[in-house]
Amino acid sequence: MDGADFGVYLHMPFCVAKCRYCDFNSYAGLGGLIPDYLAALAAEMEAVASQVARGRARTLYVGGGTPSLLAADQISAMIALVRRLFALPESAEVTLEANPGTVDERYLRDIARAGVNRLSLGVQSFDDTRLRSLGRIHNAAEAVAACEAARRAGFGNLSLDLIYATPGQTVAELLADLAQVKALAPEHLSLYALQIEAGTPLAADVAAGRVEPLSADSAVDLWQAAAEALSASGYERYEVSNWARGGQEGDLLSCRHNLVYWRYEEYLGFGAGAHSYFAGRRYANVAAPREYVARISAGREAVLAEEETSPIQAARDALMLGLRLNEGVDPAEFRLRFGVDLAADCASDLLALSGLGLVVWPAARLVVTERGRLLLHEVLVRLLPELQVA
Ligand code: SF4
Repeated sequence: MDGADFGVYLHMPFCVAKCRYCDFNSYAGLGGLIPDYLAALAAEMEAVASQVARGRARTLYVGGGTPSLLAADQISAMIALVRRLFALPESAEVTLEANPGTVDERYLRDIARAGVNRLSLGVQSFDDTRLRSLGRIHNAAEAVAACEAARRAGFGNLSLDLIYATPGQTVAELLADLAQVKALAPEHLSLYALQIEAGTPLAADVAAGRVEPLSADSAVDLWQAAAEALSASGYERYEVSNWARGGQEGDLLSCRHNLVYWRYEEYLGFGAGAHSYFAGRRYANVAAPREYVARISAGREAVLAEEETSPIQAARDALMLGLRLNEGVDPAEFRLRFGVDLAADCASDLLALSGLGLVVWPAARLVVTERGRLLLHEVLVRLLPELQVA
């Protein structure tokens, strides 16, 4: 393996209970596996580190699952290992996802001391009825308490995850959630529309007619109301679903780790079901945690699938991801990286999309408009087939 600076992702597939909407690679009742899993994770990192020829980690993101089910000393050991193996700088962003139902101030102080400098709290809603219907293990008061405890523990970079467009949600209800966000003033907010994922209890409820999903029109109303409220509260949208405030130096406190994905840069993922993109190749680890541990314990690789990314696939993926960002895509840089001339290949489509008010073009950077974000799929359907590698 050969690469420049990259992001590092560690997956913790453990949860107290499975939320009704969740199709992530996460499991309830597997807590007993944590020590073996962490040993396997360390072994996987050691093995990969010995193959990485150059470059160093620029961000670390511990996601899940519920990483806050790990003890603080386990988190400390993991971070220390990433620093040692991948030269992660002391100043680098180190994010840990936490469930408000699993943390208290003492724990948060301990993980801050362990090196976590950005906390991402999975709040999802400040409405107890909604939290119950989503199957969350915490209530709204615990979510608020977790935010306040995080501040007392010294976290100056706090992110909240919120879900909107839940069944029956009104604009007023979403605005009440966002008023609470404003009061807590996190530096960052991820606001995702609820997806009805196949195979989840929520999908079964919908199929059986027990739950009626929100209509697409209502979801758009919520999206627009959220955008207005968050802008008015001082947040800037930097990605379709992600908002941030300015820091003390005026820089936007966006998630640097996720920017690695959206800018189509390299990352190494470790753990069950983790993915990597490195030196032009994609890797996917085995998803089942026990199988992951068994493979690593037997001295085998965790990687189940590996493929070389073709130049045209890389260009398409990079455009799909890049247009999610407010900063959009720089055609000159795109040409250098992928050998694709966006302006020439998509000339007539870009003008047509610009005429429809979906993209800003011609311009130094190709960006989608607010309306274009809502119709991003349509924008991509027009542009992607036109790309050609010179
Ligand atoms: S806490 Fe997160 S990962 Fe775990 S089941 Fe709920 S949504 Fe899924």
